[in-house]
Amino acid sequence: MGEKFFTVSFDDGTEQDVRLIELMKAYGIKGTFNLSSGIFGRKTYIRYDGSSGKTAAAIDPLHPELYVNHFILDKETALRVYSKPNVEVASHGTHHLVQTELTAQQAEEEITRDFTELSKLFGYKIVGHAFPKGTYNSNVIEALRKNGAYYARKVSRGKPKDFSFDRSSLLLTPTCRHTDEFSDELLREFIETPAGSDDMVFVLWGHSYELDYGTRLGCFEHLEGLFKAVSRANGIRFVTNRGLFER
Ligand SMILES: [Zn+2]
Repeated sequence: MGEKFFTVSFDDGTEQDVRLIELMKAYGIKGTFNLSSGIFGRKTYIRYDGSSGKTAAAIDPLHPELYVNHFILDKETALRVYSKPNVEVASHGTHHLVQTELTAQQAEEEITRDFTELSKLFGYKIVGHAFPKGTYNSNVIEALRKNGAYYARKVSRGKPKDFSFDRSSLLLTPTCRHTDEFSDELLREFIETPAGSDDMVFVLWGHSYELDYGTRLGCFEHLEGLFKAVSRANGIRFVTNRGLFER
């Protein structure tokens, strides 16, 4: 008999994660935070353009309302914030580079150094990765395998056909982004679908800075609604991303 799993995966390690982790704790949600060890403490902004955001070095003074902080926690704060029982730390590339064009040597630096630094900082072996902006190539995959990665999370594009997942694949495709228009409906579908012969998984992903957009879907209230719904459901196991692969 298959089981039903729910997990979340959030990228970049920004200051809004502090509030998010509290919210997860309140609803018994477990999840994974993907960090870049080479850019701890970096402060930039995100300009919200209606669907997603673009990094900006400074706020346009004529339109401050279009920006949210993208303040990555410093190393000491990160150690404190992410050292929680319901949290797994995973890699997001040392410098959060677009990984499509990386040479073998650059991939080594981006992946191996991040796995090593984060493992050292948090005191356990890092086994997961999320591709920055969903980008990767064969050099990156090779470096991930060399570092003993269990999984590497992609980005989702549109509604998935079902809730199945392949535990033997390195590539983990998330089910839905917390800002997706269909997120509430899809989660309801997951909750109402009885467990079958195979395991089912719902991987919710995104960025906590998107919760500052102040839109209907880009806010803490919407995410809390999703957490509330899934926490009340029966027969669902809450795990970190790593937990999906350690059975
Ligand atoms: Zn990212």
